[in-house]
Amino acid sequence: MGNSIAIDGPAGAGKSTIAKLLSKEMGYIYVDTGAMYRAIAVYFAQNNINPDDEDEINSAVENVDITIRYEDGVQQVILNGVNVTGLLRTEQIGNMASKTSKYGAVRSKLVDLQRKIAENADVVMDGRDIGTTVLPNATVKIYLTASCDARAGRRFDELVAKGEQCDLEAIKKDIEARDYQDMHRSISPLKQADDAVLVDTSEMSIEQVIVRLKEIINEKAG
Ligand code: C5P
Repeated sequence: MGNSIAIDGPAGAGKSTIAKLLSKEMGYIYVDTGAMYRAIAVYFAQNNINPDDEDEINSAVENVDITIRYEDGVQQVILNGVNVTGLLRTEQIGNMASKTSKYGAVRSKLVDLQRKIAENADVVMDGRDIGTTVLPNATVKIYLTASCDARAGRRFDELVAKGEQCDLEAIKKDIEARDYQDMHRSISPLKQADDAVLVDTSEMSIEQVIVRLKEIINEKAG
């Protein structure tokens, strides 16, 4: 088992930005577990699997093989032999991932993969259940959150920067729905692990968050 930094929290709290930067600084690999749930969602979307039908999902999961590899230090997700990394970050796939991540068959397949990766490397791993379920013995656990307004505002700015049309209220509603689904599912709901340190990034810059996380890591692991 290598060293592991588990970062959990709701959508839009800044987990992936922070985890990426931190992993570079520490020389650890960054494992984006949300990308795995998104990749399996791509399979469901491409094969017209009904996200509300658990039997359909269970049979479909048997036909899915997900692996990850790194190209220039960037995680690539391979779905049945095809690199689908470029297809993952759309609202449609995010919503499909959130709806289907509640199923046991989906979770156990991906949790196994995540644990195998952490067995063989030092990792910064982000997601919803890393500190509670995937790596309960992680070296350091962080629960990164921010107010719904701050998270919606960041998502809005991101989409506008990409030249996409968007509506702040709709983004906020979407974030609230995603939070609700992730926090209320019966298997591995999103929650702060008892031994995780809470960091609220609503009023913090990226640089400030990194400084704070490094302080926490030094206290816990130093
Ligand atoms: O973090 P990201 O938005 O990419 O995750 C997409 C969805 O995957 C989340 O809304 C959540 O439902 C699911 N997920 C999860 N457990 C994780 C990571 C993501 O259930 N460890």
